[in-house]
Amino acid sequence: MSGFPIDKFNNLQTPFYYYDVDLLRATLRTVKECADAYDLHIHYAVKANANPRILAIVKEYGLGVDCVSGGEIKAAADVGFAGSDIMFAGVGKTDDEIRLALETGIRCFNVESLPELLNINEIAAQTNNMTHIAVRINPNIDAHTHQYITTGLNENKFGINLENLGEFVSTALSLPNIDLCGLHYHIGSQIRDLEPFEQLCDKVNDTLAYIESLGAQITIIDVGGGLGINYDDPDSEPIVDFKKYFEIFARNIKRRPDQQLHFEPGRSIVAQSGSLITRVLYVKEGTAKKFVIVDAGMTDLIRPALYQAHHKIENISSHSSVDDKYDVVGPICESSDCFGTDERLPLTGRGDFIALRSAGAYGEVMASQYNCRRLPGSILSTELL
Ligand SMILES: *Cc1c(COP(=O)(O)O)cnc(C)c1O
Repeated sequence: MSGFPIDKFNNLQTPFYYYDVDLLRATLRTVKECADAYDLHIHYAVKANANPRILAIVKEYGLGVDCVSGGEIKAAADVGFAGSDIMFAGVGKTDDEIRLALETGIRCFNVESLPELLNINEIAAQTNNMTHIAVRINPNIDAHTHQYITTGLNENKFGINLENLGEFVSTALSLPNIDLCGLHYHIGSQIRDLEPFEQLCDKVNDTLAYIESLGAQITIIDVGGGLGINYDDPDSEPIVDFKKYFEIFARNIKRRPDQQLHFEPGRSIVAQSGSLITRVLYVKEGTAKKFVIVDAGMTDLIRPALYQAHHKIENISSHSSVDDKYDVVGPICESSDCFGTDERLPLTGRGDFIALRSAGAYGEVMASQYNCRRLPGSILSTELL
């Protein structure tokens, strides 16, 4: 059983997200130290968790942010990130979002198509802005992850394919309000086997040489995020091996001293520090199964329903030494509203606290109000002392 302050949970309305601030800080310290050792620049991917209290902690460690919407740019600016610390990616930036980014003075747009490039140039011209852009490249690499979170294959909607890169670059170089200064990649998420990242390094080197041969001068090489975490056994690996991950790129990417190497980790920074805490409403004995019905559902944590993901399920209040097998399900009127089947748990009863572990990334931020439910609350460990 993990160190949850259960006695403090009794007064809180479930379900809620609980964030272990000590672990979050230890993770950020590790990231920062490893990055500094190799002279790397880290931009936290806000979409993993945009809770303002989490963002404020991330900021303390001197990281920048990677945003994928105007709302995220605002959320980052609200907690004090400077424009120069913000990168802006996404396949469908609206005119309003582009204007907001220009007003905020962001560091760089990651551009994903030719029409988007022309539009950014036009909007920048209206305000006489010179705009730094990085071209997002689709390197056609299979990240061996779930099909909904693989992004670097030719069939995905993201980035510019290599066949179209020459035209993109010559257009960018001809536009008066565009400074093409970066190469950007993001091949997918929850990548546990690091081999695709080695492939990515080779592609980066080739493309860098090609694009500079066309006359561009590249000072930002941004390799995105995607590093996966251990969902099966979070306590054995509370902080992933950032050193090994960064080393692959630091060793393999050929860069000059004037070229910065950027990363955009999201999940690997915040996932393990968060848990969704829920209470058991009923234990229902079916004919073939026993169901633990909890008060959290797919509206609070959608990853199991959306990506067939599994979060480790722990009964953190049962003291029983006997266990049993349960399906753990939520109250939403959808059969996909299921957190686990045939889960071994200590004897479980109404009122018990259940923790769904490793839920700090793509958890709270994806919550919805389907079924007219209230959004889950959130609490930091430091607020319970
Ligand atoms: C989602 C995303 C990230 C973060 O991915 P993680 O798997 O959470 O590390 C980084 N960059 C871009 C462009 C993204 O879309």
